[in-house]
Amino acid sequence: MINLILFGPPGSGKGTQAEKLVEKYGLLHISTGDLFRYEMGNDTPLGLKAKSYIEKGELVPDEVTVGMLRNKVEANPDVKGYIFDGFPRTIPQSEALDKLLCEKDNEISKLLMLQVPDQEIVTRILKRGETSGRADDNDEATIRKRIDVYKKETSPVYGYYQEKGKSEEINGLGTIEEIFDRLCTEIDQL
Ligand code: ADP
Repeated sequence: MINLILFGPPGSGKGTQAEKLVEKYGLLHISTGDLFRYEMGNDTPLGLKAKSYIEKGELVPDEVTVGMLRNKVEANPDVKGYIFDGFPRTIPQSEALDKLLCEKDNEISKLLMLQVPDQEIVTRILKRGETSGRADDNDEATIRKRIDVYKKETSPVYGYYQEKGKSEEINGLGTIEEIFDRLCTEIDQL
């Protein structure tokens, strides 16, 4: 199996690239952001819980997120591999993911981090907000909060997998195709 973590700040292009990677490598894309938006759209208890955090630009508590992720992985056991997008976002989530994969005699193959400067992120997310209908994309203060949370809580995940020799940094600026080629170069080495 090839199990990838697509990593990087909000608005770094993870979703866009994940779609293209799914097409090329036939992996299952699991985006915790998409899963939360689905739950919120259906007003499920999980969605209602997540909503209060997401609208403030905060992380949903680990136990909620990990439970949801585990369900999704366990519902799809017969796949060629997974692309995790937006997960893990904390060290405890990273540990939970490693444990889950280990139970299935599997592991993360590589973490690919899309590197994009802050100002470019804010510009991209505000633009996405014009059409995404996402409350968390429309307000600059919420976007800045998400970038802050990324730096404080999420960026240590890069170091966690770096210690295992699995982290790679990718330049996230350029055309969608250029960035895709950079990602594929890393994946084809696996
Ligand atoms: P972005 O485009 O900002 O990367 P996502 O679509 O991945 O956003 O996620 C939107 C929001 O959902 C996050 O700001 C956060 O509140 C919540 N969320 C998504 N994934 C996680 C996670 N792994 N842990 C905690 N909260 C999460």
